[in-house]
Amino acid sequence: MLLLLYIFQVLLLPQFYEIMKTNEIYQTVALIKNNWQSDDVVALVDELAMRRKMYIEISFPDNPYLSYSANESGSGTTFIQITKESYKKELIESETGVKYWRYRDERERNNVLLIGTYVGASNNVEAFIFASTYLQPVGTTVSILQSQFTIVALSVLVFTFVVSIFFANRISNPIIRINKAAKQLPQGKFDSRIIKSDFTEISQLSETLTAASKEIAKSDDLRKELMANISHDLRTPLTMIKAYAEMIRDLSGDNPEKREKHLKVIIDETDRLSSLVTDILDLSKLQSGVIELNLVSLNFSQHLSNVISRFAILKDNEGYNVVLDAEDGVYITADITKLEQVVYNLVNNAVTYTGEDKTVNVKLFRIAGGKVRFEVRDSGDGIAPEFLPYIWDRYYKVSERSKTHQRAKMGSGLGLSIVKTILETHKFAYGADSTVGKGSVFWFEAPLDTVADGEQRKTL
Ligand code: ADP
Repeated sequence: MLLLLYIFQVLLLPQFYEIMKTNEIYQTVALIKNNWQSDDVVALVDELAMRRKMYIEISFPDNPYLSYSANESGSGTTFIQITKESYKKELIESETGVKYWRYRDERERNNVLLIGTYVGASNNVEAFIFASTYLQPVGTTVSILQSQFTIVALSVLVFTFVVSIFFANRISNPIIRINKAAKQLPQGKFDSRIIKSDFTEISQLSETLTAASKEIAKSDDLRKELMANISHDLRTPLTMIKAYAEMIRDLSGDNPEKREKHLKVIIDETDRLSSLVTDILDLSKLQSGVIELNLVSLNFSQHLSNVISRFAILKDNEGYNVVLDAEDGVYITADITKLEQVVYNLVNNAVTYTGEDKTVNVKLFRIAGGKVRFEVRDSGDGIAPEFLPYIWDRYYKVSERSKTHQRAKMGSGLGLSIVKTILETHKFAYGADSTVGKGSVFWFEAPLDTVADGEQRKTL
């Protein structure tokens, strides 16, 4: 902008000035020529000469005594100053009937711009009209403008510099602080506060970072909790195993009865360890998205009875009764292994938490909308509504005693989290309804597989 201003206002000023002056005197003679027939033409000449600071003269070739001239003060006279025969000749010979001259007036030490035209035909000129004006030297003006321009340019530069520093600070300072906060994240400092800025985008960036650091902090806490839980879970059975193994070595080795008892503890604890490790591995694989579902159309009714039959041993050993009531020929599309894991976890939980009657009811039935519903119902204590939403979280256990969110001794707290991940990956609706003192129902719903008549069903 400054450069443009410099070019137009300072460098090209003389040229602009001359063009402007040329236009002005051209318009002047054109105006006089247009008003030639008017009675007031003399008054017009006087007025134009005065107003536009020009010298105008009109000369009649046939009658030189009628010639008229007006100067800058607007006073007319018959005294003619400049009309030279050579100019008139050039004018008549010119094609356009208008001609410019630029010459130097040595007496006034000034350049003069002269324009001439005539009224009538070129072979019968009625009158010549000439107008001239001094081209005032613009050198002084240019130098004034130049110094003014320098002042303006410097002020503008200083102003823009100050303004840009101000805005840069307003924009970059918060960004620098956000960046600093972001750099601290890898060092485990998640306490970045929201940095306010007048710029929405920066505020949003800061909010996003704060939200992200909160999430990272949360998952970091979870990771620490997970490590603590896992180490605790691993250590407890390991301590037991070691203790009982030592007992067998030192005390019960020769006593078959005691040895059997102690060995059973070791085997049970080993099972717990192995199922804990399996759960952790399953969940981490599922949640890292490594596992892809191997979807097939399967006879759910049949697979269900297979899974439930695994619980038969509980009936003989501990008196638990898992009652299955499943409609036949229910086909759904799912990953068999993972679906069996879901069923197993839900039934296992129900067995663990069911009430005195030691009964768990498992149902599979078709419902409206081309779906099938799977339900596991127990008669246990149920889950209080305030804990219900959290049971699907990793490591969540409803404590019987304190009724607060804390870990219990048994169970990994991962079962329902695995169930949730698998069902969500299958895009099946799922949930848990529970009444305190009456028991809980864990359920999920899957779309039924329908196969047209005669089509060969490919199932596993
Ligand atoms: P866990 O291995 O401890 O059973 P889960 O993820 O399977 O872990 O379950 C989380 C928590 O949800 C359990 O600790 C328990 O408090 C509660 N829960 C799960 N199933 C039932 C149920 N059928 N009845 C009552 N509480 C249940």
